[in-house]
Amino acid sequence: MTAVHVPGTPIIEDGRLVSTSPATGAEAGRFPVASVADVEATVARARAAAPWWAGLGFTGRRERLLRWRALLAKRIEELAELVHVEGGKPIADAIVEIVTAIEHVDWAARNARRVLGPRRVRSRLVLAEFSAHLEYQPHGVVGVIGPWNYPVFTPIGSVAYALAAGNSVVLKPSEYTPAVGQWLVDTFAEVVDEQPVLSAVHGLGDVGAALCRSGVDKVAFTGSTATGRKVMAACAESLTPVLIEAGGKDAMIVDADADLDAAADAAVWGALTNAGQTCIGIERVYAVEPVFDAFVDKVVQRAGRLTVGADGADIGPITMPSQLDVIRRHIDDALARGGRAVLGGAEAVQPPYVRPTVLVDVPEDSAAVREETFGPTLTINRVRDADEAVTLANALSYGLGGSVFGRRRAVAVARRLRSGMASVNSALTFAGMSTLPFGGVGDSGFGRIHGEDGLREFARAKAITRRRARSLLPAMTFDRTDADVARLVKVVRMMYGR
Ligand code: NDP
Repeated sequence: MTAVHVPGTPIIEDGRLVSTSPATGAEAGRFPVASVADVEATVARARAAAPWWAGLGFTGRRERLLRWRALLAKRIEELAELVHVEGGKPIADAIVEIVTAIEHVDWAARNARRVLGPRRVRSRLVLAEFSAHLEYQPHGVVGVIGPWNYPVFTPIGSVAYALAAGNSVVLKPSEYTPAVGQWLVDTFAEVVDEQPVLSAVHGLGDVGAALCRSGVDKVAFTGSTATGRKVMAACAESLTPVLIEAGGKDAMIVDADADLDAAADAAVWGALTNAGQTCIGIERVYAVEPVFDAFVDKVVQRAGRLTVGADGADIGPITMPSQLDVIRRHIDDALARGGRAVLGGAEAVQPPYVRPTVLVDVPEDSAAVREETFGPTLTINRVRDADEAVTLANALSYGLGGSVFGRRRAVAVARRLRSGMASVNSALTFAGMSTLPFGGVGDSGFGRIHGEDGLREFARAKAITRRRARSLLPAMTFDRTDADVARLVKVVRMMYGR
């Protein structure tokens, strides 16, 4: 019996990875599967290209990256169509994703010199005879492993910053979105055709594992927490530094003085955009008792209006067919434990689609509250006050983003969320703010992409001291005398002993 191919599930045919649309099964592209030797050869070519790219300096790289940015902007519709065909994402969502990515390319290109370039830093009195110099030098070759859910925005969050910092990059796109990954590489090669500064290797998870073991100087991984652990273990063998951007279970808190219409709009969009397949998607809401019922009504009204389907709909298919079982399990578990579906429910899963589902009063120990669902579902639970909401929001091992709606206490509440990011009176907006770092805590990973921290993540600090005068208190020499040491003690007591 021949196995039936489920649309969207990648297959390997004659050594090629065949990518198909989860909605229609149409082929999006086929790409040679890399062997371990191929991965090593690609990394070797990237290593040879790295000094040339670094040698262009901040100005040369900025000019190339800005040309790439312009090309992405000019061909945004072409790329959005590819994202739509390969992953099923609605065109409008794809456009928003690409715009955000373009913004990051622009910012990284324009700010790399300011953030990473050589500068003098202040000397301290104890070593006043030395000047201090700091710069951030590229690692060399960075391996970027990306997920499928934001196949442009997510890799670019690492790729653009790593390139701006002067590294060459080898990208391993998800097996579900190789065509988009290859498109990014090909368009970059149109503006940088001299050397393979950005290249791709395709295949399944083992290709990602081979990239971790290939001798790259840093790995930037975005994907699930479980795979992140494997990536870290593989990188540990060679002490390769690693950045982990992993999963989440982000919460929104709706306080008593919130604008409920705005909160409902943000909750629905934050939970259901990209069919809920968003690492920073809102998966849980904690609404305080006095506004709970009104808020739920508004969410149901808005979410109930959304259309589901292949083309022109608000919500597209679930990209990874196996995720449908997870979504179904979470809904079933929530209902079995006493939660109520005020929209959608057990019948909402209709492969490859899931209709918007809003679950209320879901027990805190159920899978729908504790595990990443990655589908167009939302739990809304009632809480006494914002303090209880913070406690529940912080109860999980994930800590990626979060959102708070309210007036008086909203920023204070946002600061108390155990997460790398939060948005007040909006949802997910921190992801598009290229001046801000992006990343999580706990099971959501560590390290930062975006912003100044994101640039520094792809460079190593190089510290240089330079003598500018004779030492008045010679301490770091065997020529020092007892009197020198005694004077040193006296000075330190004077400076710090009070
Ligand atoms: P996976 O963890 O399944 O895969 C991520 C990438 O790792 C893919 O390219 C995958 O390749 C590769 N991979 C798989 N096994 C290995 C291995 N042993 N060694 C090295 N690489 C490997 O995640 P998904 O692609 O399913 O993405 C969804 C997850 O990503 C969600 O948990 C989501 O929250 C998270 N995410 C986090 C973001 C963040 O910034 N924090 C942003 C976006 C998503 P292949 O696809 O071929 O298996």
